Amino acid sequence: MLEELKQKVLQANLQLVKNKLVLFTWGNVSEIDRESGLFVIKPSGVSYDDMKAEDMVVMDLNGKVVEGDLRPSSDTPTHIEFYKAFKNIGGVTHTHSTFATAWAQAGRSIPFYGTTHADYFYGDIPCARSLTQEEIEGEYEKNTGLAIIEKFRGDNLDPMAVPGVLIKSHGVFAFGKDGDNSVYNATVIEEVAKMAFITEQLNPDVSRADQFMMEKHYQRKHGKNAYYGQKK
Ligand SMILES: [Zn+2]
Repeated sequence: MLEELKQKVLQANLQLVKNKLVLFTWGNVSEIDRESGLFVIKPSGVSYDDMKAEDMVVMDLNGKVVEGDLRPSSDTPTHIEFYKAFKNIGGVTHTHSTFATAWAQAGRSIPFYGTTHADYFYGDIPCARSLTQEEIEGEYEKNTGLAIIEKFRGDNLDPMAVPGVLIKSHGVFAFGKDGDNSVYNATVIEEVAKMAFITEQLNPDVSRADQFMMEKHYQRKHGKNAYYGQKK
């Protein structure tokens, strides 16, 4: 079942390696088929070199394996919370990419410093709070999702306008219209995190770029009168 989606999710996961966002078996990508309510996710602990489409695991939103011989990624409960809370997303990527994770470990949102950021993120890339001892000792992965959802609700953020987030002392979760698009956004986050880090080294007193620049860059790509790129 969902053979085409398994192939798509495999390719999206391999893209993590290609884009230098992961080492070893780190990271994971999933994509949901909203019609059936099922999603496909990377198996746990399988090397990217050996991974095949049939290794991808088909899951339902109750956390039940619907098809697949391997165990799903240990972060599966986090993905489930996102699909349940954010009805407009179709894909989720998780990485510990270096620069973005450094911001997460520092507990800092990535401030909007320039147009590369504004082309993809309408506002700072937020950093969700760290989990409590109780949350970590309990349903850890699920609670990771809930802490991030709490951040989006609290700050009134739309996960398609701010398609990614850091979580304190951990790493990155990115969203997208599908798995592939969430990998793309995870890649943008890493690049923007690197640029922002260097920016602060060069000018420790730097302040955010102007809001009118954010408006221009975000809206020309994503607004209702978008004119960036080619007509589809
Ligand atoms: Zn992680």
